[in-house]
Amino acid sequence: MTSPVTSPPDTQADRVRAAATRIRRHALTMGEVQGQGYIGQALGAADVLAAFYAREGGELRLRPEDPEWDDRDRFLLSIGHYAIALYAALAEAGTIAVDELGTYGSDDSRLPMSGMASYTPGMEISGGSLGHGLGVACGMAMGLRHRGNSARVINLLSDGELDEGSTWEAALAGAHHELSNLVAVVDVNGLQADGPTPGVLRTEPVTDKWRAFGWHAVRVDGNDVDALLAGLDEIREHTAGPSVLICDTRTGRGVPFLETREKAHFMPVAEHEWAAARAALEEQQ
Ligand SMILES: [Mg+2]
Repeated sequence: MTSPVTSPPDTQADRVRAAATRIRRHALTMGEVQGQGYIGQALGAADVLAAFYAREGGELRLRPEDPEWDDRDRFLLSIGHYAIALYAALAEAGTIAVDELGTYGSDDSRLPMSGMASYTPGMEISGGSLGHGLGVACGMAMGLRHRGNSARVINLLSDGELDEGSTWEAALAGAHHELSNLVAVVDVNGLQADGPTPGVLRTEPVTDKWRAFGWHAVRVDGNDVDALLAGLDEIREHTAGPSVLICDTRTGRGVPFLETREKAHFMPVAEHEWAAARAALEEQQ
């Protein structure tokens, strides 16, 4: 007679998955506050953000109570419309209070609907004018290295930003200067403002392109926490230059009726659907 095989009840991946669920929950709460928000992207990117902000031992080197700490890793969100997801992750990390999420998008809130560095602790750059994040990240990485600071610079960008020439200029520079403290994370959800990415401007094969530019490229299912953590481990071991983690994600992930909704950059959610979305998320657990 064989013993039943059971998974350890509280693995590192389990804890990251639980954090991802809280990030999704927070994002839905903020979406309901304003009746809108880029909820499809937030749900899709929740696992990626949880892997960075909620990994035991710290995938990111941070002091939540001191967001300006000079030795912190810099996490640059160049896609300002994903702010709702990063606010949720910052709440998970303890940089901002969970209660503050209820002010999202309101007058005098520190949490504007598009990410802005001057408003929010832990928001390193103002995003939204797409294609600038990786160039800023290169400059930060060079500056930190020059100062002998071992902090890493991570730039979360979208597949839509791969249409921007400035992204590829920065990719050239990062490889040329052998910025081993620089990590790009590409959220490949196959969607951008003008429609499905393959129909707007073909960017595949994404992995081959980054490799041709001199980057160490790893591609994973961005909604598979085990794969994400393994990918992050592999990137950390690469010290000869910059690395990119390419994450294939699914818009609306975690809420089945949003996952299957017709894909739109700004996913419409009716007033009565927010509570249903929250209930559907909990049913997945
Ligand atoms: Mg996209």
